[in-house]
Amino acid sequence: MTINLIDVSATDAMVARAARVSTIGKDSAAADLPTKGLINFLMRDRHGSPFEHNSMTFYVHAPMVVFWQMVRHRAGWSYNLESGRYKELSPEFYVPEKSRPLVQVGKAGAYEFVQGDDTLHDVAMRELMNAYEAAWDSYQNMLKAGICREIARLPLGFGIYFSGYVTCNSRSLMHFLSLRTKNDDAQVKSSPQFEINAVADQLEDEWAKHMPVTHAAFVKHGRVAP
Ligand SMILES: Cc1cc2nc3c(=O)[nH]c(=O)nc-3n(C[C@H](O)[C@H](O)[C@H](O)COP(=O)(O)OP(=O)(O)OC[C@H]3O[C@@H](n4cnc5c(N)ncnc54)[C@H](O)[C@@H]3O)c2cc1C
Repeated sequence: MTINLIDVSATDAMVARAARVSTIGKDSAAADLPTKGLINFLMRDRHGSPFEHNSMTFYVHAPMVVFWQMVRHRAGWSYNLESGRYKELSPEFYVPEKSRPLVQVGKAGAYEFVQGDDTLHDVAMRELMNAYEAAWDSYQNMLKAGICREIARLPLGFGIYFSGYVTCNSRSLMHFLSLRTKNDDAQVKSSPQFEINAVADQLEDEWAKHMPVTHAAFVKHGRVAP
């Protein structure tokens, strides 16, 4: 899976400016005002709107199952995805690495995933490869027969790769991260799918480079979005 931050306007200073306009008006535009204490206060007391004055656009190349979950995030997110109606898709399918846990233990609401043995991994590989090959053959056969792409794509399923651009701000990203990363330090624990968690980790790493004070405050206050 590939994540590239391709466009960004995001600083800790702008969070502080947006908050300070409340109390000092036009003087909030000064460049050198301190940020850390103020951002910690905003995060702790969940004053969220100052965290919206920024923008990050990521190119995401990931299996359909990741986009299926990602586009559920509506507030403060924009999406443009590769079309399966207007272009022929590429035969690129997701196969989990050996380190990807394969066995669910527990029930809905209280579960975890544990490592399967090598046999289980082999079964997963074999069945996925068989299914992907059959699905791709069906897709090609339908296209060759003259059936439109929007119908021919139907067998391709959750494993095929798509590309897209996603844009968010730090507030919407924090909400996403609180739900789509599994973290022992989180005040509210989540159990996201491994694949979207892998994407979320990369988004978080990129964001942290541009807004390190905000990121540190998010972590310090239990990864709760303000
Ligand atoms: C572990 C996990 C399991 C999941 N399982 C399922 C599942 O089985 N089935 C399923 O359908 N989904 C499932 N989801 C998706 C989940 O229900 C949410 O749709 C998704 O996480 C996006 O969260 P959100 O709505 O808070 O985010 P956003 O859509 O980005 O919204 C952000 C916040 O804005 C506010 N908001 C947005 N829209 C509205 C609105 N219409 N009315 C009021 N307030 C609003 C809310 O405060 C919301 O938290 C799962 C998510 C996770 C993380």
